[in-house]
Amino acid sequence: MTKAGVVGVVIAVDGPSGSGKSTTARGVASRLGLRYLDTGAMYRALTWAMLRRGVDVDDATAVTAVAADVVIEPGTDPVAPTITADGVDVAVPIRGPAVTRAVSSVSAVPAVRAALVELQRRIIGSGDIVVEGRDIGSVVAPEAQLKIFLVADATARAARRTAELGGSNDLVASTQQDMERRDRLDSSRPASPLRRAVDAVVVDTTDMTLDEVVAHVVALVPAGSATTEGVAP
Ligand code: C5P
Repeated sequence: MTKAGVVGVVIAVDGPSGSGKSTTARGVASRLGLRYLDTGAMYRALTWAMLRRGVDVDDATAVTAVAADVVIEPGTDPVAPTITADGVDVAVPIRGPAVTRAVSSVSAVPAVRAALVELQRRIIGSGDIVVEGRDIGSVVAPEAQLKIFLVADATARAARRTAELGGSNDLVASTQQDMERRDRLDSSRPASPLRRAVDAVVVDTTDMTLDEVVAHVVALVPAGSATTEGVAP
């Protein structure tokens, strides 16, 4: 826990989809007794609310008009993360194909980023948190004591994402296409594109198990940060 007046550790975990961000960020937070914030879930929840309101997600003006109206509330327990939009539990529908298809258009709109980055910074507050996303080390929390940028080759990422979604092996190729489309959009947008912060540590997870990735990141937490004393076995 953060002592009065002492800023707790902030660990940023960025990278493209399927690179192992969620499992890594949750695992590190659990090991170190930190909170956890999934910023991708926030963009997905806002997208879900836009679709529910019948907003054309390719119309940036229409998206901007409602961006600040939707109330997004993410929980920060790494063991049981939760997310609501306008009070509705959206943990399941935000992982579905409709939201996955639309999220990159919504997240490219500057008003959306402004609203969610402000909320993310409020939740990060005085720290003691692991935050996963695309722009955490570069934009949301450039002061983070540890910045990790996870990468993995495209086939490994697609296989992991397919398994996460409960799909069979013949879906790997279409999942890979979908992920590459999203990565292209996320990397080429003018507002806070997916980009490695200059001071981020790149970890290639292609040939690592996710347990190995967690252990590797925990070992990179700067000595002397309040949390390293509390590392669970
Ligand atoms: O991480 P996840 O795949 O759930 O993210 C969903 C989408 O949210 C990404 O494809 C990206 O468009 C957007 N996103 C973002 N900035 C973040 C986190 C996610 O633009 N920090």
